[in-house]
Amino acid sequence: MMIVDVHTHTPTHRDMVPESERTEFAAWRTDRPVVTTNSWAEYDTTMADADVTIAFNIDVEDPAGSTGIPSSPDRINEATAEFVAADPTRRLGFLSVNPTRPDAIEEAERWRQAGLVGVKLGANYQVFDPLSDKAFEFYSYCERNGLPILFHQGASPIRHAPLRYTYPLVTDEVALAFPELRIVMAHMGHPWGRETVVTMRKHPHVYADVSSIYLRPWVCYESLLSAVEWGATSKLLLGSDFPIATTGEAIAGLRRVNEILQGTALPRIPTELIEQIIHADALGMLGLTLPGAS
Ligand SMILES: [Zn+2]
Repeated sequence: MMIVDVHTHTPTHRDMVPESERTEFAAWRTDRPVVTTNSWAEYDTTMADADVTIAFNIDVEDPAGSTGIPSSPDRINEATAEFVAADPTRRLGFLSVNPTRPDAIEEAERWRQAGLVGVKLGANYQVFDPLSDKAFEFYSYCERNGLPILFHQGASPIRHAPLRYTYPLVTDEVALAFPELRIVMAHMGHPWGRETVVTMRKHPHVYADVSSIYLRPWVCYESLLSAVEWGATSKLLLGSDFPIATTGEAIAGLRRVNEILQGTALPRIPTELIEQIIHADALGMLGLTLPGAS
């Protein structure tokens, strides 16, 4: 069974990152700063535990200043397309545009034609209303063209990013309007794991990724337990959120989920479930195939 990491950020540099350009950002992890400038080679080394990865940038006005993840704004999709084309048997790329741009659909179509197979949106980072007419027009285009959308959901340390745009019940509204659209709710909507679970359990094409949640053991446990109790475990997908974490760290973190329960009678997360998430058929669920696979 393949291991698919559905949530990674495209490396910022093709070749070595000059020492003077390496940027550390402390707000993303509780345990160590994250190096947010990285190369293709560093990506491959640290992501070795995944058979296939999905990579994307996010189309924000000022990536370096606002999110701490630098990338050239004019190369948002080009950089991802080049990166995945270099290893098409192991990488799939998602495009990103701000749906409120006048040329949003045109731009998305250009990158779809260029081989990008899904969309990454973060309404909080891109500061657009995810329930606006403009956004709905864009989702409709995605639904018609079989482009899954991975939405950032839940917390972010970025001050200017409105949290309410990331609330999982907003995604329920989107899924009600676009029943055929494949949606991935990132981070299980942390810390709103329960809201994420009750949303995805009722929509056949709504999924959630577990990226970064293990960094906060109680949120991780509570979110996974909600998925067990509400019968939605088959819709959880593995993700790391590289460069914030690696696939290996994500896998190890999930396997440790019950450690905090020692000495308690709290229900354990079944180990089979953890392995099921790690080996989930993410591509099948999202309607994706690897163009480079034979
Ligand atoms: Zn991310």
